Amino acid sequence: MPLTFSAIKNSACRSLYLTAPAAAALVTLTVNAHADAPSVVTSIKPIHSIASAVMEGVGTPYVLVDGASSPHGYALKPSQAFLLQGADVVFWVGPELAPSLKKPIETMAKNAVTVELIDASGIHQLDIREGASFDAHDHDHDDGHSGEEHAHDHAEEEDDHDHAGGEHDHEEGEHEHAGHEHDDDDSHADAHDHSGHDHDAEHQHAAHEAVDPHIWLNPENGIEIAKIMADTLAKQDPANAEIYKKNAAAFSKRIASLDQDISAELAPFADKKFIVFHDAYHHFEHHYEIEASGSVTVSPEALASADRIQEIQGKIRDLGVSCVFQEPQFDAKLVSVVLEGSSARSGTLDPLGTDLENGPDLYPQLLKGLSSSLKDCLGGAS
Ligand SMILES: [Zn+2]
Ligand SMILES: [Zn+2]
Ligand SMILES: [Zn+2]
Ligand SMILES: [Zn+2]
Ligand SMILES: [Zn+2]
Repeated sequence: MPLTFSAIKNSACRSLYLTAPAAAALVTLTVNAHADAPSVVTSIKPIHSIASAVMEGVGTPYVLVDGASSPHGYALKPSQAFLLQGADVVFWVGPELAPSLKKPIETMAKNAVTVELIDASGIHQLDIREGASFDAHDHDHDDGHSGEEHAHDHAEEEDDHDHAGGEHDHEEGEHEHAGHEHDDDDSHADAHDHSGHDHDAEHQHAAHEAVDPHIWLNPENGIEIAKIMADTLAKQDPANAEIYKKNAAAFSKRIASLDQDISAELAPFADKKFIVFHDAYHHFEHHYEIEASGSVTVSPEALASADRIQEIQGKIRDLGVSCVFQEPQFDAKLVSVVLEGSSARSGTLDPLGTDLENGPDLYPQLLKGLSSSLKDCLGGAS
């Protein structure tokens, strides 16, 4: 191919005029060059980042919910329809995160292989926490649940769970979260109950509305997502299969090393109390065993009621909360109202990497950013 291409280019330079067959060949080559990489559409910036890492050297994925938008209540722009219509592969978290994307993806990306990551094999699930206080959420991490001990065996599930066939069809027993085992000495096995996310034969999404969709904030899930993407893309684009797998392996190594750094960075703050803006960070908190005491809003689109604000203010006093975190996607005023008359500090946590440039580095920077925001605010540096 490259030989033919340069031959045509040279002859074009010599004569300035292309013969009709040569011009046709040139057009074909140009189209082929683009057709090499599958057209991949992703839902949010962190998922786009992981796909970018996996596709490095082959192509660049698209992102739907970009900039400062929140996926909760996102409205697809009419100009984005063509992205879905031309998509070969769609990677999105699922309707639990962005309900408004469900219909456009189903109706417009008809020819695409669609992977709903929240349901994919090997992804850690957590239930949504309820109320201004997360007290009901009970964890027993006492007998030493360290990062190393938290090993999971996903190998069995992966073989049975094939997303690349173009249909996302869970048959009974095929997609069993109960098969996701924690080590014997993993004391949080009880609290980390995957059985709530079992899929029945009809795969009713209403049945698992209570699943926390911010799955990418657990770095183990980030690594798993990269593997799922590499497997899916390898089947769609066998010519580049080796590149996808090599990229996913490199990504996995990078994130695993960052994971250790973050564990070390956050370890001193395990007993500090903080309040998040919305219940977006449980996957991160749970993994690093640094759990929030509550959230300012019940749902990010809804305004917090006066009662809720009072409840949170009481919590800040009673628990000795050191930090209340706002989010760049939402108005910071609410957090300053909550903080009135208290000595708690305010910080910013961003679950999406709003201010970060899209690309392979966004995801690790996002995790690192969450860790340093927590450290700075809980440690009193901000
Ligand atoms: Zn599902
Ligand atoms: Zn698990
Ligand atoms: Zn959220
Ligand atoms: Zn937890
Ligand atoms: Zn766990």
